[in-house]
Amino acid sequence: MMQWTVRLETTTSAGEVKTTELVTFSRPAVVSTLAEIGLMLDETKALLAKLQASMLCGQVAKYAAHHRVCAACGMLQRFKDRRTRRLQTLFGTVEVEAPRFKVCRCRQPAPMAEVTVSPVCALLTARCTPELERVQAELGARTSFREAARILDTLLPASPARHESVRNRTHAVALRIEADDRQAAAEVVAVRNEPNKAAAAAEHRPVVMLEGAYIRAVPGHQVRNFEAVCGKVEHEGHPTRRFALVRSVADQLHALLRAALQDQGWREGDAVTAISDGDPALPALVRSATGGPVEPILDWFRAT
Ligand SMILES: [Zn+2]
Repeated sequence: MMQWTVRLETTTSAGEVKTTELVTFSRPAVVSTLAEIGLMLDETKALLAKLQASMLCGQVAKYAAHHRVCAACGMLQRFKDRRTRRLQTLFGTVEVEAPRFKVCRCRQPAPMAEVTVSPVCALLTARCTPELERVQAELGARTSFREAARILDTLLPASPARHESVRNRTHAVALRIEADDRQAAAEVVAVRNEPNKAAAAAEHRPVVMLEGAYIRAVPGHQVRNFEAVCGKVEHEGHPTRRFALVRSVADQLHALLRAALQDQGWREGDAVTAISDGDPALPALVRSATGGPVEPILDWFRAT
């Protein structure tokens, strides 16, 4: 038999070193097949989950201990009770200690008032880590929610790998991106009439590629289907910027498109090239959004 033991060595801020045994893998001393060589997926998942739990609990415990000390007088606040909180991460769900403390006497509003604080609950502002949310949303945007959940479940000890949670998180991230776009569009509206903000025209005109499609609405919605327009703006020297609009929903339709263009260095009055299929409404949208010259180019590949 051959054995491998993985130990985690933690060095605290005070310089103390603590060793925790994480996992032990074993194999026959002399392997007989190719499948017995090296690390297995299940072992890796177990290792990652243990490592995550150990690291995370250590950090949270340190955080609670640090915030137990009264910030005003430096006294240790009295212990109220022991509670736990669960945090979903890319490497498993971890249950952490979330002790509650009685607020220091020096900060009590009244001598008899029992005010408690839970520093750990204040730290855990969401049920999952931002990284888990980001990875779920990214996979959820590329493939079906069910498939995204399956991929995560196959490769990582991530939790919980249910397609509903992938869908909810993809939706949450999409709403934030939309809010950012709206914010950018609002800024465009605000600076529109400030000529001093207009910079020199770039040498090459930006190119807007547009594609429209009618999408069936969910049953029960006011309309049966709606038109979605998605596109990207390319301009030399800038990373590609993508955008999407729904004509009947976007309240600042033109501003959203202008925000995407301005992100690419486009300035008021600059000419724009619009590439789209045969639908004349798409270049017309760019023309009305920019208010400047637009060179429409028919995308034959799309049109055919
Ligand atoms: Zn105090």
